[in-house]
Amino acid sequence: MSSHLLSTKLQSMSQSATIAMAQKARELKSQGIDIISLSLGEPDFDTPDFIKDAARDAVYAGYTKYTPVPGLVELREAICTKLKRDNHLDYAIDQIVVSNGAKQCIANVCLALLNPTDEVIIFTPYWVSYFEIVKFSGGQPKPLFAGIDQNFKVTPEQLEAAINDKTKLIIFSSPSNPTGSVYTEEELKALSAVISKHNDLFVLSDEIYEYICFQGKNPSIAAQPGMYDRTITVNGMSKGFAMTGWRLGYMAAPKWIASACAKVQGQFTSGATSFGQKAASIALLRQPADLDYMKTKFLERKELVKSKLGAIPGVKINDPQGAFYFFPDISEFFGKSNGTRRINDADEFVDVLLDEAHVAAVTGRAFGDPNSFRISYATSNDILEEAMYRIAKVLATYS
Ligand code: PMP
Ligand code: GLU
Repeated sequence: MSSHLLSTKLQSMSQSATIAMAQKARELKSQGIDIISLSLGEPDFDTPDFIKDAARDAVYAGYTKYTPVPGLVELREAICTKLKRDNHLDYAIDQIVVSNGAKQCIANVCLALLNPTDEVIIFTPYWVSYFEIVKFSGGQPKPLFAGIDQNFKVTPEQLEAAINDKTKLIIFSSPSNPTGSVYTEEELKALSAVISKHNDLFVLSDEIYEYICFQGKNPSIAAQPGMYDRTITVNGMSKGFAMTGWRLGYMAAPKWIASACAKVQGQFTSGATSFGQKAASIALLRQPADLDYMKTKFLERKELVKSKLGAIPGVKINDPQGAFYFFPDISEFFGKSNGTRRINDADEFVDVLLDEAHVAAVTGRAFGDPNSFRISYATSNDILEEAMYRIAKVLATYS
């Protein structure tokens, strides 16, 4: 018995690089090594007390049973209210499906929509799991690359040239993981003009970093002309509400897609956790401004990292407008050596950071860009200062 007996689909699936690096950092820490982990994208804030209180109260109020597969009615109503309030989008509750994290929403959509010949354009650099979820669902991932010189944003011309008769779905996140780039309303309009010309072409817009946006409000592509009937908006509680462990995400879509996703979920996992859903319904009805203290901190940290990281010779950065990542181009280091060790690619670059600076980061290869690496700055200023100092010191030994 061995792993060759696993399904061919599984054998061709890569492990999540973000999760693998976070695990490696935890192991090294447990051996007593002073590792700074900038690998996992997870807010360091605790879930706000009012949400915790609501979950506790919900347990005692009897929210301990199975829920409807697409989610508690009161949560779906709260999601509709939130989508109207923040995104100018009108949805009915039968267009909403609540899942165990945004990750499951994305999997539901891909499993519900994709046939083996269907192609999925994934804006690249992409979040690690899109590629594997599309593949595992039987679709064909087609990365569409936009590099740092264009602020990691796909242009309408690029998109037009990439779409063909087999293209069924486009996936992107804005604010973006891993680049922090944010599409403006004008840019989304221009992309929508291209997309809406094509029949039977859909968009999965991942807006999980919506509340961590430094350039005003994050616009939704579903609200652009011609897009409502072809957009699946995915969002969740993990990032904006610091609720990663609660496993709660949601999607809003045309009713036939939402019903299909609920059908998939009904066979795989059923409704998400009952008392968490109750707490999420209360959280979503709070004014987003009540959570701005987290965004303010993220912005302060972004500026700190920008000044330190941007000052390291050979490290090329953009100015991220959202999320909590930097995705520097470090291709200048390829071929450089410290006398005993040579850096040949982004994987080796992050290995050097881990071994020599004791800083855990993630290779850009996992995000579809072999010239870069990702750090998450969702940690304290002191830790970030120390991490930047260590990185600069080690990289200075390579020439
Ligand atoms: N989309 C993006 C862009 C992400 O960074 C993440 C990581 N948390 C997810 C989706 C999944 O979020 P969740 O924790 O809700 O599954
Ligand atoms: N989304 C986060 C990240 O990119 C968490 C890890 C994961 O869910 O894969 O680091």
